[in-house]
Amino acid sequence: MESENRPLRAHFIPYLSTSHLMPQVDMAMIFAAHGVDVTIITTYFNSLLFQKSIDKAITCGHRINVHKLKFPFKEVGLPEGLENFRDATSYEHRQKIGKGVSMLQIPIEQFIRDNRPDFIVADMFLYWASDLASDLGIPRLTSYATGHLALCAADCLLRYGPHKTVQSDKEPFLLPGLPGKIQMTRSEIAEWIKVPNAYTSLMQMIDESIRKSYGVLVNSFYELEKDYADHYRNVLGIKSWSIGSVRLFNARNGSGNDDKHDCLTWLDSQNPNSVVYVSFGSLCSFSSAQISAIAKALDSMNHPFIWVVRNEDRENEWLPRGLEEKITKSNKGLIIKGWAPQLSILEHPAVGGFLTHCGWNSVLETIAAEVPMATWPLGADQFYNEKLITQVLGVGVKVGTEVWTQLLEESRSYVEKEKIEKAVNELMGGGDEAEMRRKKVKELSVIAKAAVKEGGSSYSNVTALLDELRQCR
Ligand code: UDP
Repeated sequence: MESENRPLRAHFIPYLSTSHLMPQVDMAMIFAAHGVDVTIITTYFNSLLFQKSIDKAITCGHRINVHKLKFPFKEVGLPEGLENFRDATSYEHRQKIGKGVSMLQIPIEQFIRDNRPDFIVADMFLYWASDLASDLGIPRLTSYATGHLALCAADCLLRYGPHKTVQSDKEPFLLPGLPGKIQMTRSEIAEWIKVPNAYTSLMQMIDESIRKSYGVLVNSFYELEKDYADHYRNVLGIKSWSIGSVRLFNARNGSGNDDKHDCLTWLDSQNPNSVVYVSFGSLCSFSSAQISAIAKALDSMNHPFIWVVRNEDRENEWLPRGLEEKITKSNKGLIIKGWAPQLSILEHPAVGGFLTHCGWNSVLETIAAEVPMATWPLGADQFYNEKLITQVLGVGVKVGTEVWTQLLEESRSYVEKEKIEKAVNELMGGGDEAEMRRKKVKELSVIAKAAVKEGGSSYSNVTALLDELRQCR
């Protein structure tokens, strides 16, 4: 019989999109730092995104291993190396990556059966993991790449359908039964909630698998959304642990690259808090008209900026003629095409505001970096996150997007140049409200950092959970 004193063994199974993968890798590293013997199961090219961090953890004596699977490129008809949703440039790519992810279920299950751990942590999308865990008689934890407010809000909409009672898409309504007065409009709600489709069925399966799982790991800290964490646990009856911000446990750069990016050298030459950082995450897509409006707005304002654009393949269509050269010559701003070192940018003292799509990781990163936000939600959980930022925490100003869009589809909201300028000027300006946002985000940053230190709420949640899991063994 194995000794009860041996380390707990855990398998982590992340999803193949950066915003799910990286926080789960951080979670795995946190567990390893607490003495758990961890194996991360992922595909070869995705493992390259974080291998350096793992190597560092191993040199610190942590037991952490990566089990690399081959992504079925040939079988799904994708070029080798295209195995993360962030690299998909079309709907077809996305479908094929999704198909490849489904095909990985068999080799993952086989590996876990052959190497039975004490528990597994599987991404929310891997709904089959709860049945596998129960088959093996071990707990499955679900890792969620969103916060508690978003989880509670989606449940509320599905359960009570408050959007069915309003007369128009733009008429505001309150989310019934939720703490605080959270206001939404029908156009901000995901299509799959309003009209059942295949995604609705998938989400139902995910919901069932969560309820069958041991509980949910949330990348958030209790103090950030206390009322919603309590509501989730006590009213919705789902056990959850806020163990974030997981990135703060492990100081690492999202780019996985130690070289200093040129944009950081450029930031060194700018005044403190003067630069607005503009980025819409890893999965956004805009029309050429929208990109052009953003470009014109940034050009016409007096704030230096870094703007990350992801429509690389349409480079020639989207920038007004000559604008990029003009911007470069005047040294007014930088345009980064592709992937930016977001964490290092946000943490740079020259950055004073973030025009963001409100992706959950971006929200946590900007709060930790003490940077207030102008909110431009596009789809997924981003409208819920906007409510947290603007209505609950008071650390953001709304740009005014109104229509929820399916991820990777071209945004269905169009924001005029003038609206963009207004929001960015408010964000970067010096009025009382702007000062209040800065003050509040600073306070939250202090709390966020304390949460992950020994004795802090997230740190204690990890140790309490591990104690429970030892009892389960
Ligand atoms: N990110 C980055 N560089 C980029 C774009 C994104 O490092 O150019 C990182 C960002 O720091 C965050 C993640 O990718 O950790 C994006 O996650 P988020 O939840 O904010 O948005 P999503 O990509 O899911 O829409």
